[in-house]
Amino acid sequence: MSYDVIVIGTGPGGYVAAIKAAQLGLKVAVVEKRATYGGTCLNVGCIPSKALLHASEMFHATHHMEELGIEVAAPKLNLEKMLAHKDATVKSNVDGVAFLFKKNKIDAFHGTGKIVSAGKVSVTAEDGTVQEIEGKNIVIATGSDVAGIPGVKVDIDEKIIVSSTGAIALEKVPETMIVVGGGVIGLELGSVWSRLGTKVTVIEFLDKILGAMDADVSKQFQRMLGKQGIDIKLSSKVTGVEKAENGAKVTFEPVAGGAAQTLEADVVLISTGRIPYTAALGLEEAGVKLDNRGRVEIDGHFKTNVEGIYAIGDVVKGPMLAHKAEDEGVALAEILAGQHGHVNYDVIPSVVYTQPEVASVGKTEEELKAAGVAYKVGKFPFTANGRARAMLATEGFVKILSDKETDRVLGGHIVGFGAGEMIHEIAVLMEFGGSAEDLGRTCHAHPTMSEAVKEAALAAFFKPIHL
Ligand code: FAD
Repeated sequence: MSYDVIVIGTGPGGYVAAIKAAQLGLKVAVVEKRATYGGTCLNVGCIPSKALLHASEMFHATHHMEELGIEVAAPKLNLEKMLAHKDATVKSNVDGVAFLFKKNKIDAFHGTGKIVSAGKVSVTAEDGTVQEIEGKNIVIATGSDVAGIPGVKVDIDEKIIVSSTGAIALEKVPETMIVVGGGVIGLELGSVWSRLGTKVTVIEFLDKILGAMDADVSKQFQRMLGKQGIDIKLSSKVTGVEKAENGAKVTFEPVAGGAAQTLEADVVLISTGRIPYTAALGLEEAGVKLDNRGRVEIDGHFKTNVEGIYAIGDVVKGPMLAHKAEDEGVALAEILAGQHGHVNYDVIPSVVYTQPEVASVGKTEEELKAAGVAYKVGKFPFTANGRARAMLATEGFVKILSDKETDRVLGGHIVGFGAGEMIHEIAVLMEFGGSAEDLGRTCHAHPTMSEAVKEAALAAFFKPIHL
């Protein structure tokens, strides 16, 4: 059997590319080495972490019901059941992908895919049997893996020294946890365990958490995490992570130089980022070029330097996000079907699913300054929003950045309850090149948290009403 497209890897990039290509009439095969489809995102990333974030938020919310006039007995945690909820959520999602493959008549091969040459992929099953499949186009969608700490040897056992994969499966609530890396994954998972009772300390190399986010957002967010009891040590360089008698110890020193300190905890989570995964793919033999950061090099149409071989998702440049991988999957499938797929990299939202959430799309204030763009800022706090007051969700704000000359919206940043949903109205507006005035003049239902988005837009182009 010869295919139009062979996709290696079934994460959000690979499985979406495969489905879209099949929908467009192409004959598609996928190759996956994991027992289930869905990649990092569905198996050990986005989906299980959100199941635990939601469950731990519900547990924590019961501590704060009195203000609403609800008296509940002290909640009791059943961690086993909470983890079972997470596992069931994963199963229903990965089963969903298997169903969609069948529905779209996609042939699935289980095993490790290796590119033999352009047009040929070998699949080595777990029992060692090898088969070869042929296809006009090969898509590399092999994703990413946990990055270590540069220059530090870390023995991740997924019990005491864990990556995100171990951190979503701890069998008991640790008393203490050190999170190495104050990025999205570390803060999300740190906040899960903090809400379940763990004393969490975050050690971050940079002088702010969520390095790439707007500085206003990261400052406010750090204050909120502090109030929730999470201790954050900034500008600190980790130089050692080792098992200790009870747990593990982390040695770190000020980035600017100075005395080293050592902290011990029951569990240490290493969340220093992720690196592209291309092991055993045969890229060298096939002549596929990598860039200086180990990512598969592609042109503006996802094409590698070898004819008929393409790559998408975490394994290529750009933000390591599931929806970025998905959109690349759709665009590439369209290109392979003779259409004109494209991804607008200027409008890729990014969300931190803590409570409250943080969400961002487009440029930060720092990026606009660095690029010398003249801009206006409109900011509106949730303390001035009626719905937020009714829900006791007044922490946070909306910030809209627009071009000083044209009023076109260039970026939106939200800290607050539901930020991850609200960000999309700014994203849609930006996709259509809308202005702050367009957003401020769009009728928003009352009372909603989204009115704060409208008010921030009003603040950017003239004045808000309720502030
Ligand atoms: P992956 O999802 O990594 O899938 C790659 C697949 O390829 C894997 O199944 C792997 O087994 C398979 N594979 C690799 N090599 C081979 C081979 N040689 N042969 C066969 N199969 C192979 N992103 C978000 O947007 N939102 C979130 O909330 C979010 N939360 C996250 C939480 C955690 C804890 C983690 C770790 C990540 C999170 N991410 C989130 C990131 C997101 O998971 C990734 O951006 C996304 O999964 C990338 O998709 P992908 O298709 O490129 O690769």
